[in-house]
Amino acid sequence: MAWFKKTRRPIAKTKVKASRVPEGLWVKCPGCAQAIYNKDLASNLNVCPKCAHHFRVNATERLRMLFDGEWVEHDAGLASTDPLNFTDTKTYKSRLKAMREATGLKDAVIVASGEIDGTPTVVASMEYEFIGGSMGVVVGEKIARGIERAIAERRAMLIVCCSGGARMMEGALSLMQMAKICGALARLDRAGLPYISVLTDPTTGGVTASFAMLGDLNVAEPKALIGFAGPRVIEQAIRTKLPEGFQRSEFLLEKGMLDLVVDRREMKAAVANAFRFMNAHIAPAVAPVADAPLTNQMTD
Ligand SMILES: [Zn+2]
Repeated sequence: MAWFKKTRRPIAKTKVKASRVPEGLWVKCPGCAQAIYNKDLASNLNVCPKCAHHFRVNATERLRMLFDGEWVEHDAGLASTDPLNFTDTKTYKSRLKAMREATGLKDAVIVASGEIDGTPTVVASMEYEFIGGSMGVVVGEKIARGIERAIAERRAMLIVCCSGGARMMEGALSLMQMAKICGALARLDRAGLPYISVLTDPTTGGVTASFAMLGDLNVAEPKALIGFAGPRVIEQAIRTKLPEGFQRSEFLLEKGMLDLVVDRREMKAAVANAFRFMNAHIAPAVAPVADAPLTNQMTD
């Protein structure tokens, strides 16, 4: 018999949220610990005016930052059918439902066409709040269709990457999306159309291992976490302490993994310049292609 009995429950773990802009008038910057007025932050594209810390922004906000004005969204109705009937701590179906309610999106990417400083472009913007921006069948299909649209309409392609990697709940089907998107990008390349990958915090796993690193230009935001496996896993595998700043944009730029690190406030201009340099703006105008009919059969 034990002498002491544990009567109190252990303290529950508190969830530390990443640098999302919280509700309220003032926000404490994780970079410089100063209080910033919420409206100042919003008018500064969610970059701290004092230390240039980049707060995370959602997929729609990204489109607003990049496009000249209005954009047309494509394949917004595609939704996962939960092909594996997957359950972890809760069912994948209920997870999807909760995410749809929280974000107003059907899955973790928005694909839209519009103009970036006059260049006709298809942009795929990933939403981190939707199951960690993970890539399942729907994300893969929407991005692949976006690339095919770019080819059909002679547009430039841009993907804003923000993802934890392939979606566990769709198993191997998620992994197939890597090859599917890469195949579509190869066709885009053969069609002589440019692709820019914008890597934001965080870009990891199967997304890094496929389309995020395949841009004609790979541009990252400052201090973004970009990698395949997490630092802890790597340290355990190679039994070495990792250097300072490992897997951050600046480190990867120095090692030749990236082409540019650009402040969010200059991102649109940088991307537009690059597209102009690649002659994307002179692409002949082609009539827009209608969305493929929704069959909801997401088998490959
Ligand atoms: Zn700051």
